[in-house]
Amino acid sequence: MGTVVQERPRKKLRPTKPFVPDLVYFEPGALEYPKGAKIMEWVKSQDIPYRMTSSHNRITNLPGDTDQEKYRNAKRTLVVGVRKTLEFDQSKPSAEYAIPISTGCMGHCHYCYLQTTLGAKPYVRVYVNTDDIIQAAKQYIEERAPEITRFEAACTSDPVGLEHITNSLSDLITFMAGEEFGRLRFVTKFHHVDPFLKLQHNGHTRIRFSINSDYVIRQFEPSTSHFEERIEAAGKVAHAGYPLGFIIAPIIWYEGWEEGYADLLKRLADTLPQDATSDLTFELIQHRFTKTSKRVIEERYPKSKLEMDIAKRKTKWGRWGQYKYVYPDDQQRALREFITERIFEYFPQAKIDYFT
Ligand code: SF4
Repeated sequence: MGTVVQERPRKKLRPTKPFVPDLVYFEPGALEYPKGAKIMEWVKSQDIPYRMTSSHNRITNLPGDTDQEKYRNAKRTLVVGVRKTLEFDQSKPSAEYAIPISTGCMGHCHYCYLQTTLGAKPYVRVYVNTDDIIQAAKQYIEERAPEITRFEAACTSDPVGLEHITNSLSDLITFMAGEEFGRLRFVTKFHHVDPFLKLQHNGHTRIRFSINSDYVIRQFEPSTSHFEERIEAAGKVAHAGYPLGFIIAPIIWYEGWEEGYADLLKRLADTLPQDATSDLTFELIQHRFTKTSKRVIEERYPKSKLEMDIAKRKTKWGRWGQYKYVYPDDQQRALREFITERIFEYFPQAKIDYFT
């Protein structure tokens, strides 16, 4: 029998606008690439102040009296540069490699791991030498062929929210369409997918949307597209023939989580167009934190209701050489079983890639 879910009236929210930075820096060489020159044209057309810098490492004088203000301003600062390291990191469990087209994000999700992985440099960086990045990807594909090689484009950023500035995902989608053994995937909390709808993709790119219960989105995900916008965008990309996926992350244990996650999956089933459900994947990621991320989050979002009580958690050794704190086994099991059941209740043909 299905779960009974209480419907709640929802406020009509204002549309989420595409990101426009307050300040843009250009690194040496960036303007020599066509993409860099185009971004400069866009910056000028938007009347955004810009500066040249010898390196992003030298950007130390961002405005703000407190660390919090500096952090907020950094997230509204764009750095346009050339990607020098063309060795890709691994990206388990969702793909073989992370493909680097941008770093940093203008979103303000309290739990975001970029807060610690990007440390004191939370500004948004985009890379203009996409052809070099694509050439490197081609080599990785050739080394593994005929095995399929998957590339995740959203490991260190949310590139959909930057596409109107860079066009980089469109370049990758078009490239991957012609690669028999290459696949692209990315995940987003933004709904600005229109540039992808007319592209030839040959089903080689899976677009996933990060979704969560109403409570989690409202409490912890400021400056991202709201749920309805994400689902409408999901319908559009599925209609354009892209394989579609959802990542429910971070799954959070709070009072009322069962109702919250049941409601989420019911709303998803109610709003997703029929043609979106034929090739559908789910990835489930429970909330985790490290001692370092707890300290940083408490500094940056002091009023956050994000629960990070070490005494209530279980330790797990993380690949960044630090313990991370996840939910104890019985809570993990309850979350996984409940959400899995709801997924199969509404989407019996969907595939759950993993719970971690
Ligand atoms: Fe981090 Fe994604 Fe939120 Fe951006 S949208 S702040 S990358 S969790």
